[in-house]
Amino acid sequence: MLTKRIIVSILALATLVVGSITLIQAAADDVVTVYSSRKEHLIQPLFEQFTKDTGIEVNYLTGKGGDLIERMKLEGNNTPADMFMTVDAGDLWYAGTQDVFRSVLTDTLLNNIPSHLRDPEGLWMGLSVRARTIVYSTERVDPFELSTYADLADDKWQGRLCLRTSKKIYTKSLVASIVHNEGEEGAEAIVSGWVNNLAATPNAKDSHVMNAILAGQCDVGLVNTYYFGRLIEETPGAPLSLFWANQETSGVHVNVSGAGVTKHASNAEGAIQLLEWLSSAKAQAIYGSLNKEYPANQSVASDEVVSAWGAFKQDDMNLAIAGILQADAVALMQRIGYK
Ligand code: FE
Repeated sequence: MLTKRIIVSILALATLVVGSITLIQAAADDVVTVYSSRKEHLIQPLFEQFTKDTGIEVNYLTGKGGDLIERMKLEGNNTPADMFMTVDAGDLWYAGTQDVFRSVLTDTLLNNIPSHLRDPEGLWMGLSVRARTIVYSTERVDPFELSTYADLADDKWQGRLCLRTSKKIYTKSLVASIVHNEGEEGAEAIVSGWVNNLAATPNAKDSHVMNAILAGQCDVGLVNTYYFGRLIEETPGAPLSLFWANQETSGVHVNVSGAGVTKHASNAEGAIQLLEWLSSAKAQAIYGSLNKEYPANQSVASDEVVSAWGAFKQDDMNLAIAGILQADAVALMQRIGYK
């Protein structure tokens, strides 16, 4: 009798549990959870628009890319994250090596995102393009003197160059692209030339590179273009300009912010829908302009401010290579004493 009552209770409990699981499942289908190292103000307006368009809510958690990857690894199967979003192909590639993504190669994504801006296996997609190019003092540099990344190693720039620290992923990805384009020896000659030409110890931030040029400490530097955009917005008429590097050769080194669907996504379908939506013309027009970047989807025009800097040829190296050659780039910079 007692046994029977227990069995009945267990059955009742089981029904309750199954019932609540169904309920949670139904709710989860309408929510996509994103872990993002891209800042809140750059993603929140997009997610809001996505919800308006599709009725799917987006929950998000922002933090440092490395911390979020560790968190997903610890959470494993139980991670709430359906999508991971971060900046720089080097970091996207690293996340791929940590097995947090699944492969997603839908026709929509293949059509919207050019092949050099996405992982060949479909683990991540670039969603905005940032160009890392030459910035110079319009008071002390004639743009006719400028040409390539390699040229910044020339003696004529002795004591006139400012660079960001080699610790930053942006520097690692740029140097990885130079290793790819020029070979290991060629890259070593170029980067050691840069180090010889430095006016000061490498700067912590791109904005510091530009401030050093404005302060007269140096005349040329390398920056991501959106930092230039921010500076010009705050200080209109600042005597600085961008120069598109390597236009006769490999093109400007570009990088991406991007995202992938997680391996353990509980709402993979919703996450794929969000990723496809983010690659669409509508979202791309918003995505790039929020941070003065370029759309990854090449059918979408850049916003007015960014377009005013002129068109340029991009380096079409597949960005997974920036990750694959990252260790070589780091070893090279250590060897020649690039701090
Ligand atoms: Fe940045």
